[in-house]
Amino acid sequence: MQQYFQTAAGVAPQIVTICMYCEKIRDNGSNSWSASEKVKEGVLLSHGMCPNCQTAVYKELEILGSA
Ligand SMILES: [Zn+2]
Repeated sequence: MQQYFQTAAGVAPQIVTICMYCEKIRDNGSNSWSASEKVKEGVLLSHGMCPNCQTAVYKELEILGSA
């Protein structure tokens, strides 16, 4: 039986988290975030938020909350 979810290389597609704000992607190995040109073909993108943008958003919410 063929497994239809396998790629040509015979491995399951990699799921990569991309920041929805700055579009950096997370390196699953080192858990660091880097520019999105490194996204390989055939990966599945999952939208998230990198630590930098999380901090920026939280600060913005704090400012709005205290206004
Ligand atoms: Zn970001």
